[in-house]
Amino acid sequence: MKTKSASNWSAAQSEEHYGFKRWGANHFSVDSEGFVQVQPLSDGRAVRLMDVVEEAASMGLKAPLVIRMQDTLRHRVTQLNEVFRKAIKEEGYKGEYRGVFPIKVNQLREVVDEVVSAGKDFNYGLEAGSKPELMIALGMHEGGQRLIICNGYKDKDYMRLALLGRKLGKKIIIVVEQLSEVDSIIEIAKETGVKPMLGFRVKLQTRGEGKWASSTGDNAKFGLNTAEILFAVEKLRAAKMQSSLRLVHFHIGSQVPNIITIKAAVTEAARFYCQLAKMGFPMGFLDVGGGLGIDYDGSRTNFESSMNYTVGEYARDVVFNIREICEASGVKVPDIVTESGRAVAAPHSMLVVEVFERINKHESLGKQHQPKSRHKIVDDLAVLLKNKARLGRLERFHDALQKKEEAFSLFNLGYLDLENRAAAEQIFWQICEQIDKESDKAGYQPEELHELKKLLADQYVCNFSVFQSLLDSWALKQLFPITPLHRLKEKPTVNAVLVDITCDSDGKVDRFIDLQDVKDYITLHPLKAGQPYYLGIYLTGAYQDIMGDLHNLFGRVNEVHVFLEDDEPNGYYIEEALAGSRISDVIEGVQYQWEELCRRIKQQIDHATKKDLIKPREGVRLVEFYESQMLAKTYLNIEHTGKKKR
Ligand SMILES: *Cc1c(COP(=O)(O)O)cnc(C)c1O
Repeated sequence: MKTKSASNWSAAQSEEHYGFKRWGANHFSVDSEGFVQVQPLSDGRAVRLMDVVEEAASMGLKAPLVIRMQDTLRHRVTQLNEVFRKAIKEEGYKGEYRGVFPIKVNQLREVVDEVVSAGKDFNYGLEAGSKPELMIALGMHEGGQRLIICNGYKDKDYMRLALLGRKLGKKIIIVVEQLSEVDSIIEIAKETGVKPMLGFRVKLQTRGEGKWASSTGDNAKFGLNTAEILFAVEKLRAAKMQSSLRLVHFHIGSQVPNIITIKAAVTEAARFYCQLAKMGFPMGFLDVGGGLGIDYDGSRTNFESSMNYTVGEYARDVVFNIREICEASGVKVPDIVTESGRAVAAPHSMLVVEVFERINKHESLGKQHQPKSRHKIVDDLAVLLKNKARLGRLERFHDALQKKEEAFSLFNLGYLDLENRAAAEQIFWQICEQIDKESDKAGYQPEELHELKKLLADQYVCNFSVFQSLLDSWALKQLFPITPLHRLKEKPTVNAVLVDITCDSDGKVDRFIDLQDVKDYITLHPLKAGQPYYLGIYLTGAYQDIMGDLHNLFGRVNEVHVFLEDDEPNGYYIEEALAGSRISDVIEGVQYQWEELCRRIKQQIDHATKKDLIKPREGVRLVEFYESQMLAKTYLNIEHTGKKKR
């Protein structure tokens, strides 16, 4: 099991290089043998991820693999509730904390189950944003004190479902997002004879910050503006339903990187709350929505992939600002609701992908091509390469670029043969490497030379689809921390970007976390023949599981749910294993019947056999092979021939 290590590099250096301590929130570290380990409860008990990957593989669940640490999820729910309880106690706040988990962040049954179970002692509830999610919430919700918050666009059936929950004694609050919903609610309340609990989602003027800033402000698609709130109030009064209004809600968008934004939004919403309370509505709840961030890059800044505050600071600021406004207005403080989804769910799961190929622009050109008659353009480039001391780095780079362009023009016009073109390309890349090496030693880097690193980076081909498993990386350019799972006692030496196996040039990850801004490449280990190389992509538990699509018909990946267990030799056990999509599954999803396809292939093979193009025995084998592939997984089945080592 021991990995041969390059002598001048340590596990601790890897830990620093990949920033485990910064983004890992005490959950991730590198053990003394150079493997990544997770501490789901940050209490010293650790699971080596490679153990899980290998056990899963032995169960037939190869990478791409989602590993779900159920204990981490439980831990996050507990942490959030305890942090709010503490803030409430410290501030002498007279209300309670009544958080809800927004199901849309991760609807998987095992996730919702765990959250509901972990939230039992805290009266932690659920939030739904659609009818299907409300169906889940109604079924999974327990207890009379835990809230269900109903957000999103609603038809009348949505409201009837919510009132069904009321009949069962559940504290279920319908949040009005559109003025027209008030009329429907009044109508359905009359129809069913059930008194609803209602909230208003207010359109704050406080601007969000980060990628989801457009969730508030005049052009937001949700919520009531001030005039609409007054209209809604009149409608409720006219229907004699004043006593139904219980909550003010806002949501300024996900991943709010700056605590200042949160303070401002809470203050504005608390003013709305107090005004409505003073108008005589019973109220009782102020819902500050989601937005609590995750520090994906570990920089603790207000950069969009980070956050400049802690969960503790968030809780204290929410509690403090609500109390301040309520005291100043002479209004009894509300119970506080939050709808933090990302912050609860993101850390508990990660994606493991296998790198199986390295695309190298310069080395893959093989040994030097020596054209029989060298074109002048090749000589020019060779001179640039040889006389490196004569010109500065930047000037040489410009000259080399110009010569390369010239070479391509000459080729297109028919003046340069393949051999000369190959030689020109190769010398160009050699010059680039030479300049890059010099740059490493120099201090300041001009922008263009910085780009050179990206230009020279290899492509590591990973067996997964960005569109299925890491959608926000593509759609929103969101950053996720990524590291090798093993070999962390070896110095990483290869700058690379990651590409997936879809036939889509967008199927790649070429932006990586960095303390300053964003890095164009990640430094990894060279691949070793016959040995798998695994990368972990972390903090993927929020949104990534459900947003993915079937681009190129790459389906759901394998998945294991891991629990800590002291009695097990490796400190954990796999409670549940979900096999990823089979080829037949995804094919049926686009309206083919796999039996029909098999029949068609059999017919064609029979036909070919009759024409003597295929021997009968081989024909039978081919039919069997085609049929068996229907049951295969959609990703590449990477077969390693070398001796096993990790
Ligand atoms: C998406 C959403 C949330 C969850 O937001 P996070 O930033 O993931 O915490 C909460 N409330 C509403 C209304 C939402 O739409």
